[in-house]
Amino acid sequence: MEIKDKKISIIGAVKSGVGAAKLIRNLGGIPFVSDSAGEEKLTESIKALKENKIDFEIGNHSERVFDCDLIVISPGVPTNSSIIQGATDRKIKIISEIELAFNFCKGKIVAITGTNGKTTTTSLTGHILNACGFKTYVAGNIGFAFSEIALEVKQNEVVVLEVSSFQLDFIDKFKPYIAMILNITPDHLNRYDYKYQNYIDAKLRIYMNQDKEDSLILNNDSESLIKSLINHVSRDFCFSLNEKQNNGCYLADNKIYYFKNSDLQFSCTTAEINLKGEHNYANAMASIIAAKILGGSNQKIKEALGSFAGVEHRLELVRILEGVKYINDSKATNIDSVWYALRSFDEPIFLILGGLDKGNDYNQIKNLVVEKVKKIYAIGSSAEKIFNFFHSFVKVEITKSLEDAVYEANKEARENEIVLLSPACASFDMFLSYEHRGKVFKEVVNKL
Ligand code: ADP
Repeated sequence: MEIKDKKISIIGAVKSGVGAAKLIRNLGGIPFVSDSAGEEKLTESIKALKENKIDFEIGNHSERVFDCDLIVISPGVPTNSSIIQGATDRKIKIISEIELAFNFCKGKIVAITGTNGKTTTTSLTGHILNACGFKTYVAGNIGFAFSEIALEVKQNEVVVLEVSSFQLDFIDKFKPYIAMILNITPDHLNRYDYKYQNYIDAKLRIYMNQDKEDSLILNNDSESLIKSLINHVSRDFCFSLNEKQNNGCYLADNKIYYFKNSDLQFSCTTAEINLKGEHNYANAMASIIAAKILGGSNQKIKEALGSFAGVEHRLELVRILEGVKYINDSKATNIDSVWYALRSFDEPIFLILGGLDKGNDYNQIKNLVVEKVKKIYAIGSSAEKIFNFFHSFVKVEITKSLEDAVYEANKEARENEIVLLSPACASFDMFLSYEHRGKVFKEVVNKL
């Protein structure tokens, strides 16, 4: 890809946009960054752009955006936005930020996608590979933007990359050495014309350029994923919570096994993994396979599984107070992640649920709620929907804030019970982000 002296417009001025602009400038191109958000949302980016003497506009996208040879798009920009339409009408090539960075990165890429578990698996894989002695960069939606580090990475070094389906929408040559698809369940359908298959197809693009030297790690328990695989030539490794795998990992009797060509190459007990819940065993299996493909030693992999601290806002233990565990799972913004959260505990649960509804079908967790939940505290704009759905089979109380939900749960929960924030909804009706929601939860819990 030739960048020198090329005019390149970058849409979106958050982390990946700023990273892309810096990379383009370092390669002798002429970047111009455009973001429709206002100054108050972009203070950090504005500072970075000014420091790096990169031309930009904020508050709207002007016609200047189209005066370019190429457009680099950030993941947050909707595919059906007028800016993309404008570029398409003018036949300007659009690529995503990971596509740009990929073209200038000499290292091996481990790219991780899926509806849930991307951040956890990306950090766990990075942690394991580091422990195995590989110089490893963790990038994408977590850590650095890929473009920030692309030029630094040497040939035998590894980049573990968290990749959303949005980033895959505009790839062209992106070819990971190892690709993982952790799971696919309906989410973000508003971006895919409400067609589930379109969302699946977007995720499957992760392997579209792979060849037989590359590997693809797949969740064998996900029927919609396995059914949709087409035209793929890379080496398959599967993981499963249910079934033996001859090339990949599976869980049986609280042990994880890794087989290659029907040969046992690695095993460990779930007690040796410092993460809770079946979903996290699935994430761990995907990470183990990647580490084994790259040649990591069994001893180092095991040590790393035992020392991984987990990721904030994902089933994070905040405090044990009078025998009650307070768990922050603010990142559970869809039903599937709540399903796994509920399955992760044997103790009775006081569940804080609600926020901005994304078209949730609560039938999917109804049986588990009946089995495990003592009471629901419903918060946010979806509180009434939650009350209406659940109140005939479990106690439900609508509370006016997250703080009140915690206070109420604290009054009722007893020793060996759990207070769990796992909202199944987006946070934007009451908070700036899921991180903000998790932080508020932790502050209130720590003040109890
Ligand atoms: P992502 O980056 O894909 O959003 P995270 O690792 O941030 O994934 O986890 C998001 C939510 O999903 C958390 O509530 C977490 O506990 C839950 N989760 C993590 N891994 C999985 C999985 N494999 N399947 C279902 N839910 C998961």
